[in-house]
Amino acid sequence: MQRAMYPSPYMRITAGFEADSHKGTFALDDAGSDSGIDIILAPFDCMIKKIYEADANEVWIESLYPVKFADGTEDYMTMMFVHDNDVSDLWIGKTFKQGEKFYDEGSKGRGQVGTFGNHVHFECGRGKFEGSGWHANEYGIWMINNAKRPDECLWIDDSYHILEKWGFDWKKVPSKNSEQESELENLKKENELLKNENESLKNENARLKTENSNRGKIVYVCKKNGKYKIKLTLNENEKIVIEKGAQL
Ligand SMILES: [Zn+2]
Repeated sequence: MQRAMYPSPYMRITAGFEADSHKGTFALDDAGSDSGIDIILAPFDCMIKKIYEADANEVWIESLYPVKFADGTEDYMTMMFVHDNDVSDLWIGKTFKQGEKFYDEGSKGRGQVGTFGNHVHFECGRGKFEGSGWHANEYGIWMINNAKRPDECLWIDDSYHILEKWGFDWKKVPSKNSEQESELENLKKENELLKNENESLKNENARLKTENSNRGKIVYVCKKNGKYKIKLTLNENEKIVIEKGAQL
């Protein structure tokens, strides 16, 4: 299953949830490597579901299949990207492979170019594209439907240049080696446990054997005091055991 990847290879977050224009949302602004126009990569195999040119060239994409979120959720993911100056190269139904360039930073609409330069505003939502893709929240800010925190959605790996992570603890894709190593470590531990279990079963078995061989058979228990005459027939390996309280 594909992991949803952070869409900018240069992470330089310039505004988080607390920004006035993001009030009540889980939106981030990312300005990329510099004040110029950086490219934005498809975070997963996806399809464009909506383009809204009347405002800030908002574009919604939906994953083609369920993807793995950074918090372990497995579901479709929808994302909204904002501020590309020119979306004439995009259309509804256009698909992209993960890691393919699909959007540009820009300053269309509410982009605060003066403060942050060209940037992309993006939001993540859990599940497929729904309704009109967004709604106005209690502060009148338009936000993606089924919004989910980006740090719970998106992964990074060693190829990312982290310039400003805005205090988030971005989840890193485990490397193949470390995954294999931890699996090996688990197998070793399991093996050790089985060995111990085997050892204790062996001990228990030996103990039962000894106990069994020490235990004599009660052949006859005298009910009263008196004289009894007993005739015993023994194999070579059998023992006569006199239990306490019994008389022969
Ligand atoms: Zn923004």
